[in-house]
Order: sequence, then structure tokens, then C-alpha cells
Amino acid sequence: SNPVLQVSDLQVSYYTDLGRAVALNNVSFVLESGEKLGLVGESGSGKSTMALAMMRMIKPPGRIEGGHVIVGDTDLTSLTDEQMLKARLSKIAYIPQGAMNSLNPVLRIGRQMMDAVRAHTPKESASNIQERCIEALESVELKPSVFKMYAHELSGGMKQRVCIAIGILLKPQVIIADEPTSALDVVTQRQVMETIDRVQKQIGAAVILIGHDMGLMAQFVDKVAVMYAGRLAEVSTVRQMFTKPAHPYAQALISSLPNLDNKGVFRGIPGLAPSLLRLPSGCAFHPRCPHAMDICTTVRPELVTLEDGQQVACHLYTEKA
Ligand code: SF4
Ligand code: MG
Repeated sequence: SNPVLQVSDLQVSYYTDLGRAVALNNVSFVLESGEKLGLVGESGSGKSTMALAMMRMIKPPGRIEGGHVIVGDTDLTSLTDEQMLKARLSKIAYIPQGAMNSLNPVLRIGRQMMDAVRAHTPKESASNIQERCIEALESVELKPSVFKMYAHELSGGMKQRVCIAIGILLKPQVIIADEPTSALDVVTQRQVMETIDRVQKQIGAAVILIGHDMGLMAQFVDKVAVMYAGRLAEVSTVRQMFTKPAHPYAQALISSLPNLDNKGVFRGIPGLAPSLLRLPSGCAFHPRCPHAMDICTTVRPELVTLEDGQQVACHLYTEKA
């Protein structure tokens, strides 16, 4: 089958007064159409940077320094800025963290939705666009009356669903949602995830869900990618991740999940996340890794594919060790 998304060697750095911070370090992965990937990792591990880089929305002092993002047969990195504006929403949609709080308070929801479409299809009639917007509202299970409402008249969950509706207006092939459930209560979190699940099936898009709630995510995604210090540490199916996580960091994440034994107490992972300005040599996880070997302090492990398709960047799985 043909991957709908191919990310290869994506590299992003931020040039700060304190030096260069490599926020995304040669990240590569593929997604098949209709596939759902959960992207997890500590804050500062590069999850949001990855989303922004795929959308070509990295702002100075950040810079995309290399790599390709191919959606269908379009290499987004080769588009002009104007072409990229069109590709956003029509090929790849991004629902940023806190999107629901950035709805314009003084414009009706419908107006904001129509503006999003109009930028792409300036010749389409208003009634046509309106019809599309109402359809999108219905597919996230909001009543057509929401079209005429203002953001303050909606609950947090409803606002988040409006943002999802906007995201699917132009039926993109890839949808990226950054922490779509943060700041929502547990019941609403589930509903929002179910909404994403449903619209994803309707339009057949691939979805990347960014989050840190591995437990919630696991119920909705096919694969989980674990990021550490700007790199992919492991990419596995949900089943593999929960039954036999391969990377020591992924193992620590899984064992820190609340379960019956530890009565829901989140234990966290010993040690601090490294500063991107001063990444440890070799494997960036080595100062925190219970399995660190000599080679880990000097040689950076590449992402390799194991027999069962699990991908892991760790010397425990390379021949050099
Ligand atoms: Fe641990 Fe070495 Fe694997 Fe890094 S490469 S996760 S330090 S065993
Ligand atoms: Mg983030």
C-alpha cells in the first residue's frame, strides 16, 4: 500500500542567544492512509515542533534545516509559501494545542468556518460553503444552530469539536491534533477522541495525535511513536508498546502508567529531561538509562526495524553492542 505521509530526515533547530538547540533531529516515519499514530514524550521532546515542521509553521529563531514531508505525491518542503498556504487544511490540517481558546470571540462560529474555506476556494458560492460548514458541524455531532453561535456560548468540548470541524472542512489526507483533550474533563476527553475517530473514518485521513496521556491515546491509535530529545526512540503498534516496549525509555513510560498494582500513582521517570542546548553525547537517554553501556555514551543509536516491525533506536538492539 502507498503511504499517505512520508516524513524523512526532518531536522529543526532553534538559534538562541545561548546557542543552537536541535529540537528535531533527523526524524523519519511513514503513515498509511487511515492510520492513526500517537506521538508521546515529555514536554520539550519535540512533539509540537514535529507538528509545526510538518505544517511548515516553524517561526524564527527556529529553522527547518533539512528533510522532506510528502503528503500523497506532494512534497510540502518544495512548495512555495503560497502553495503551502493552500496545502494547509486541504492536504494536511493542524489543530494546535489550545485551539479551542483561539476561536475569535466576536465572530460567529459560522463566519470563522466560512473564512477558513473561502481562503481556499474564493470562487465557491456562499451558500455552497455554508452547506459544507454545516455538514462538518454535523459530522462532529454539533447542531447546525452552532453555526450562528459565538464561542462563549459553547462548552469546552463543543469548542474543541468546532476546531475539529474546521480541520476537516477541506477533507485533508492528514490531520494533526496537538493535545486535543488537554484542559477537558475525563468524559469530554473521551467524546473528543471519539469525534476525531469518527471524522477520521468518514474522510479516510491519517491522524497524528500528540499527547502525553498514553492510556487515553492507546484506546484510539494504531501505532505509538515515543520521542526523546528531538528523536524517535521507538515506533510500535499499541499492542507491542503495552506488552513489550523495546526502548528503555518506552519501558519506563509504560511501567510508570497507573495500574492496579501501584494504585494509580504516577511514578514518573528518574532523572531530568536533557536540555536541547546541551544534549548528552551518544544516546541522549544514557544519563537516565538503567541499561547504559560504554557505547551508549559515544555512539548515537539509529532507528532500526526489528523482526516484528517494531522500530527502536537503542544499542541493545544493534550489533555493535
Ligand atoms: Fe539505554 Fe544505551 Fe539503549 Fe540509550 S542506547 S536507551 S543508553 S541501552
Ligand atoms: Mg507541546
